[in-house]
Amino acid sequence: MKEGMSINLSVNVRCPYCGLENNVILNIDSRFIPKQIVTCDIDIGGCDKDFVIDPRFKITADVYKIEGKYEYGKEGYVCRLKHV
Ligand SMILES: [Zn+2]
Repeated sequence: MKEGMSINLSVNVRCPYCGLENNVILNIDSRFIPKQIVTCDIDIGGCDKDFVIDPRFKITADVYKIEGKYEYGKEGYVCRLKHV
C-alpha cells in the first residue's frame, strides 16, 4: 500500500463468549494491521465482554475470459480489449 493511504474496512467478527456477530470498523493505513480489543455490543444483544481480534487480509479475485487481443497499459494492467 502507498504511504499515507488509509482505508476503513468493516468486518464481522463473532464474539467467542456469546456467539453474537459484531461489526467492527478497522482503520488500515499499512500492511500491518494490529490486534485490537473489541467489546461485544450490548446494544445489539451482546454480552459486553472484551475479546481480541487479529485481522488478516484475504484477497480474492474474479476471473474472466478474454475475447480477442488484450494490451497492457503504461502501469502494467490490462487496459483495453482489442478485437482481432
Ligand atoms: Zn458476546
